[in-house]
Amino acid sequence: MIDLHTHSTASDGSLSPRELILAAKSAGLSAIALTDHDTTAGIDEAIDSLASSGLRFVPGIEISAELQGGVLHLVGLYIDHRDPDLALAMKRLVEYRDERNATMAERLSALGMNVRIEELAEIAGGDVIGRPHFASLMVKKGYVQKVDDAFRNFLKRGRPAYVPKQKLEKRQAVELIRSASGVPVLAHPDQTGLNERDLDRLVRELVDAGLGGIEAYCTGYSASRSRSYADLAKRYGLVISGGSDFHGETKKGIALGRGSGDLSVPDDLLRPMAELASRIRETRRLAPLTTRD
Ligand code: AMP
Ligand code: ZN
Ligand code: FE
Ligand code: FE
Repeated sequence: MIDLHTHSTASDGSLSPRELILAAKSAGLSAIALTDHDTTAGIDEAIDSLASSGLRFVPGIEISAELQGGVLHLVGLYIDHRDPDLALAMKRLVEYRDERNATMAERLSALGMNVRIEELAEIAGGDVIGRPHFASLMVKKGYVQKVDDAFRNFLKRGRPAYVPKQKLEKRQAVELIRSASGVPVLAHPDQTGLNERDLDRLVRELVDAGLGGIEAYCTGYSASRSRSYADLAKRYGLVISGGSDFHGETKKGIALGRGSGDLSVPDDLLRPMAELASRIRETRRLAPLTTRD
């Protein structure tokens, strides 16, 4: 069993990278990818925690892209986490988040909820602060009973404290991952909210930009759903990926590797993914040097 989509305290997960690696070992995983939102800050700690466990580690990231009316997330696997262009792009996203967080805090304050950035930073533990940290703090301060209530009444789109997040254009997101030697993977395709035909069209467009894979195994997917995404991947010559989107306590009810209980991402997906990553890395190495401005 492997898990190629997880989060740590570097973004909005509740386990530190070290704790995540330990949890992966106890869960009996053979490979894990750390795919924090907008940051690779947890990857070195995760690598340092591997020791001689036999657990295979895949450095990753998760980036949000623009999609009218839906959620488009791209996971980058086997990413070069020290790539300077990637670091710069992620720094900008985090700066936008900081502005957005300040606005959300102001809105909550106008609603009588005192949520300070320093308190959020303490809960977050890392540089990437997002809505789940707002929700946790709102629970902690007794403004709402549950994380879900915070989202439902205040933080989700259409609610009074919601502020849209700065996202990358979708081709840009795919190209950025590739330029950092990563395999761009369409994460949890159901969250795009697209019907079969429009999803096919989206995938075709992403393939043009360099998409390498699709998550066909995600938390909550039925066997037939997984099969249909695997077919979609096959139609476009893409590699199949899968993961739980584990966040620890931030998203209760999702277990590492097992999702909501019946997830089991097969080990043999890893080799084609690693091979594609090598090919992407090789292409990058052989690419003529372009001038950067
Ligand atoms: P942000 O990147 O700040 O917009 O926050 C997005 C995060 O919020 C993702 O990890 C989502 O899974 C999480 N999220 C969205 N809606 C909910 C919800 N109703 N309950 C818990 N987490 C949520
Ligand atoms: Zn998250
Ligand atoms: Fe996601
Ligand atoms: Fe995720």
